Amino acid sequence: MTTQTPESTGGHDDTAQVYRVAGYAFVLNLFLAVLKGFLAVTSGSLAIMAGAIDSGTDAVASLVIYGGVKLSTRKTKGFPLGLYKLENVASVLVAIFIFIAGYEIVGQIFSGQQQPPEIPLPYIWLLLAATLMIFFFGRFAIRVGRRTNSPTLIAEGRHRQVDVLSSIVVLVAALLGYLEVDWHILGITIDQMGACLILVFIVRAGWDLLSDGMRVLLDASIDFATLDRIQEIIKNDPQVDRIIELSGRNAGRFQFIHAAVTVKTHDLDEAHQISRHLETRIREQIPHIEKITILYEPRKREHVRIALPLADENGRISAHFGEAPWFAVVFVQRRDQTVQKQEIMKNPHAATETAKGIRVAEWLVQAGVDHVGMKEDISRKGPGYVLANGGIQVHLISGDDLDAAVDDILTKGI
Ligand SMILES: [Zn+2]
Repeated sequence: MTTQTPESTGGHDDTAQVYRVAGYAFVLNLFLAVLKGFLAVTSGSLAIMAGAIDSGTDAVASLVIYGGVKLSTRKTKGFPLGLYKLENVASVLVAIFIFIAGYEIVGQIFSGQQQPPEIPLPYIWLLLAATLMIFFFGRFAIRVGRRTNSPTLIAEGRHRQVDVLSSIVVLVAALLGYLEVDWHILGITIDQMGACLILVFIVRAGWDLLSDGMRVLLDASIDFATLDRIQEIIKNDPQVDRIIELSGRNAGRFQFIHAAVTVKTHDLDEAHQISRHLETRIREQIPHIEKITILYEPRKREHVRIALPLADENGRISAHFGEAPWFAVVFVQRRDQTVQKQEIMKNPHAATETAKGIRVAEWLVQAGVDHVGMKEDISRKGPGYVLANGGIQVHLISGDDLDAAVDDILTKGI
């Protein structure tokens, strides 16, 4: 197919930026997991260990998102089915691992024979720095997410804000450990209580990974109800001629939509506007769509249809548009601009009381007309806008003769 441009959404810069920030999220979480893991093992703090597992979980979740964004930037038709299934299998496996790790921590918390952790001062500073990094990264991700209209990044940012809370819990537990504050409640130390609190965050993150991964695996990743709704939205746009292809895939909670349509215009800018408009409409009605790719190409027809309002059946041009009792539709062969046939049709709305111009314009759009010639200038009136929206080009003509009018339009070029 002679696709004009492979991407109508956002543009390359936006996509590259979403991709980059999703990558940073993974690197940050992995770094934090390794850092906290090291601090936990060397200090013997359960709370810090729980924090490390929390960050590790988030690293895996970020990697899944990163993979989803990366796949969405491919310009292939259809999607590499095997690959994204693998992502989801991985997230389910990791979720199970997280629950096992959480269970281990619970076991240690309640084993009751734990040495108090030994926390040197630099550990406090490192944990404080980690908390600040998460905080600022979260704000950064939300800002870029808003600008690029990316629900993935906004969700990443929100998640980082929640992580700030769990990091503060770890920080406070470590600080009290450093100060050698030795409180017990029912024999449970502060470090153990901190670990308990972090477990809540771990279970939450693990559950998200598990349920998103399972949902995508069980759904076979095609949500027909959503695709149907999108199909309706696209079909209802008067400037869309036909849907050639429509597909979608999931990455976690997010959906990636791919559509190919033919549009009723040859103007590239206009075609681009149509696809932007479609994207906006779809986003308005369906949340959590990360990316919509709409391929568009002009509709191909052998004939161009030219409609003219007639005063009588013999081909005398009417001075009016909506009130004209008859319409001629002339079929011109695109290849050599010769007239193939003409049909005279009765105006079904001539007797209508109100808004007949608009109704006639809608009727012509539905009839697949490409050009309309008329004497009245309606470009700033309702019917003029309906015609323009339907991709119909309006030509002002003079004279009363149908054949002359058609020649006139053809010589001006269509
Ligand atoms: Zn988290």
